[in-house]
Amino acid sequence: MSLPPQGRFEVQDFLRAFLPRRCPGCDGQLGREAGLCAGCRAQLRPRVERYSPLSPRPQGHLVTLGPYRGVTRRAVRALKFGGARELAEVLGAALAAGIPAVWGVRAVVPVPLHPRRERERGFNQSALLAEVVAARLGVPCVPALRRTRATAQQARLHAAERVMNVAGAFQADPRLLPSGPVLLLDDVMTTGSTLLACRDALAGAGVTPVYFAVLAH
Ligand SMILES: [Zn+2]
Repeated sequence: MSLPPQGRFEVQDFLRAFLPRRCPGCDGQLGREAGLCAGCRAQLRPRVERYSPLSPRPQGHLVTLGPYRGVTRRAVRALKFGGARELAEVLGAALAAGIPAVWGVRAVVPVPLHPRRERERGFNQSALLAEVVAARLGVPCVPALRRTRATAQQARLHAAERVMNVAGAFQADPRLLPSGPVLLLDDVMTTGSTLLACRDALAGAGVTPVYFAVLAH
């Protein structure tokens, strides 16, 4: 007997509830904690970066959990490709704890996924994270950016190509946004060209300053 796709999914969920859950950060057994074990959580330490590709001048405007490796890398991969949405709660909370109050952030804006990618994955991990961070900061999460054209996958391109690939690829809706300051949120930053293209779109909508938060770089 073959089950319809919906039925099969429910059976999987049912079975999963009885299996020992593993921590995606260390592969240890997960107790009552959701998402990550206590030991892995303790390794998520947010910090303000002063040097980044986002500005030629040293200034603190980027919060991150650090380089894309170790627990952070494994947790990000589990969130994106394993669909472990409870990780968005853990990772978003860790990131939010590092946002300086003096920034006076009034809204959190997620970097949009390409609509086709979002359909395939079923969710935009940056939007999930942005909702958690916004709730923690007590400000609205505003999905005010949209992609105006399809772009090639950044991971397959060199740095100079990446800048060209995403330049002018985003548009911001000024009706949804405060005049500033806003926090732009993405999961992973490589060269920063996507974040810069989004910042330009926000600036075009009259939003300044724009601060950045990424889980890893
Ligand atoms: Zn762990």
